[in-house]
Amino acid sequence: LLRVLPYISQLNVIRSGFAGASASLNITSEFLRRENKPFMSCGEKPYKSLQKGIHFNNISFAYPGYEKLVIKEIDLFLPKGTTLALVGSSGAGKSTMADLLPRFYEPISGSILLDGVDLRDFNIQSVRSLMGIVSQDTFLFNDSIGYNIAYGKTDASEEEVIAAAKQANAYEFIIKLPQGFDTLIGDRGVMLSGGQRQRLAIARALLQNPEILILDEATSALDTVSERLVQEAIDDLSKNRTTLVIAHRLSTVQKAHQIAVLDQGRVVEVGNHQELLRKNGYYTRLYSMQFSGESEQTAEVNPISNQT
Ligand code: ADP
Ligand code: MG
Repeated sequence: LLRVLPYISQLNVIRSGFAGASASLNITSEFLRRENKPFMSCGEKPYKSLQKGIHFNNISFAYPGYEKLVIKEIDLFLPKGTTLALVGSSGAGKSTMADLLPRFYEPISGSILLDGVDLRDFNIQSVRSLMGIVSQDTFLFNDSIGYNIAYGKTDASEEEVIAAAKQANAYEFIIKLPQGFDTLIGDRGVMLSGGQRQRLAIARALLQNPEILILDEATSALDTVSERLVQEAIDDLSKNRTTLVIAHRLSTVQKAHQIAVLDQGRVVEVGNHQELLRKNGYYTRLYSMQFSGESEQTAEVNPISNQT
């Protein structure tokens, strides 16, 4: 277990669709094993910092053991310091794209380039240590709130932890808990709501201060107040940061520099909010559907997780 922990801290999240700590650990160790296999070549180049941006260079992908391509010739450039949002209905391939970036999986053709250098040429740990991932399924330890936040930066001072909690809009709920930052969460302690978990994940990411941020927004389960608080925190976190966001609610997307609309693994439209609305195409349909109350996220069920 101890050998696995450092990886969890770097990843900060385990793929959505799998619930529970033990399942997460299994997945993590499985993917560590996969890393040792010869087909997963691992470069040695240390990754220092992003200068220009991330290029999804004509990538296609099928899950190991499956023939169906779930990503089809996607070509997108995410300039440093900007936000790229992925939207589209359930099963379109959004989460898969988010998993390819930290190299949980590899494209079967094409490549992901960081400043023109193939992700495969880098030492993968050095790449992952600069990526922060926030989702509702963020791995939380059965430990104190403070410990869970500080996991983003193990040498963080108490002041830093409190500042991060405030910035993530988590401070108010934390200090109302019986032991504040020392309150235990999980099996042995209090249960947190989805929105609270997410704000802890955001606080952790704020402390970690990653160069590249991957957000699986997943705020569908939140009440209006939590949703607004999470939204504000996310806005703070992604400001001026290279961000890949999977947006379930199109309100986030409106601020993104680029929006890629995915359908069955393909990018069918790309542009900013205004440009896409002018196209009066798929994005416009998604957008009007959401505002007529029949939100896309109600159908956001991963077919895979249904089977398991
Ligand atoms: P989205 O996030 O847009 O809802 P996903 O990236 O989760 O879509 O899924 C894209 C496609 O890949 C879907 O058809 C889904 O069933 C399939 N898929 C997702 N995860 C796996 C997996 N671990 N193994 C096999 N197929 C998967
Ligand atoms: Mg998804």
